[in-house]
Amino acid sequence: MRLSKDRIYLDHAATTPMLPEVVDAMEPWLRDGYGNPSSLHADGRRAKDAIDKAREIISQSLGALFAEVIFTSSGTEAANLAIVGAALANEDTRRRRILFSAVEHHCVLHTEPILRRLGYDVELIPVDRIGRVRLESLQDMLGEDVLLVSVMHANNELGTIQPIEEVTRLASESGTLFHCDAVQTFPTSDLHADLVTFSAHKINGPKGVGATYIKAGTRIKPITVGGGQEREMRAGTENTAAIVGFGEATKQIKNRPDNRREARDTFLGALRIPQLIQTVPTSDDVLRGHAHIRIPGVQAETMLILLDRMGISASSGAACSSGSIEPSHVLLACGYTQEEAKEGLRFTFGRETSLEEAKEAAQCVHDAAKQLGR
Ligand code: PLP
Repeated sequence: MRLSKDRIYLDHAATTPMLPEVVDAMEPWLRDGYGNPSSLHADGRRAKDAIDKAREIISQSLGALFAEVIFTSSGTEAANLAIVGAALANEDTRRRRILFSAVEHHCVLHTEPILRRLGYDVELIPVDRIGRVRLESLQDMLGEDVLLVSVMHANNELGTIQPIEEVTRLASESGTLFHCDAVQTFPTSDLHADLVTFSAHKINGPKGVGATYIKAGTRIKPITVGGGQEREMRAGTENTAAIVGFGEATKQIKNRPDNRREARDTFLGALRIPQLIQTVPTSDDVLRGHAHIRIPGVQAETMLILLDRMGISASSGAACSSGSIEPSHVLLACGYTQEEAKEGLRFTFGRETSLEEAKEAAQCVHDAAKQLGR
């Protein structure tokens, strides 16, 4: 999808453009539908109905119950609610350990100081060279003193798909709560976790809205308090327009043509750089729109600046601080060195990316690598 005519956008794991249908569905709620969903009058009730319609669409797409979906302001808040909320609600004093895969998004990993203050120990589950959790390690780490395990469905940086069925089984066998960050794979109905988190802007919906699936019977305490919105799970006046947009994106996305795999494969097939290394070589292990590569000796930042000048929006997938890319915590967890962990280049394709764009982008990567002497 070109944001402007002269650019090629290959950063769909960061965010996606809103579908026209989503914009159309949201517009009346931005203009005229300003009633507060908590108000009892007709304007309020209409807004509440619109939110509940979106909840219906999203819960159905997950095979979940209507009341199991709680809207939040983002995927980040959704994960915070699932994890910190479970820690706050826990009354079993034996369960004081919490396990995170070492490649979780920072919205999971950075809850650690809060959990520590609440008296929990957070431990990281090791991963293999492509970022997949080591099941034998998980099995050893699980026990009756573990409250919760968090393993994402697919990694946002490498695109690696986790062995989620096995993780679900192991967590359930040890009576541990299982949280799955499904931001990169929503909508998906093959998850059987106790807590699942989503975000609208990765599926051509609006930014600033997410959801937590809380399986009926799971004990969670809210992390925002105030008015009793969202069944007292998430206080704060709902963003009606954004929630409506989330519902519409969920509905639309299932029936859209999906070009991601072809575009990704065309791009990778057209890259002719001798030293290039594909981080996750087998396509079954990786999300269909993800290509993560390294060119040894070339820092991602240098490459991305050149590509940006050529009109290609790509990413390293790793965190940036004061404008420079830090070594990726995901690559470090996979066993790469500090230097190698600064070399990751992530190209993520959209449902709408054309094969021409994929080929043109590959040519640009080739030209940029040449400029850098590769
Ligand atoms: N989890 C994963 C795997 C993500 O990729 C992201 C966004 O990049 C998030 C969580 C956070 O979602 P949001 O941007 O809605 O806060």
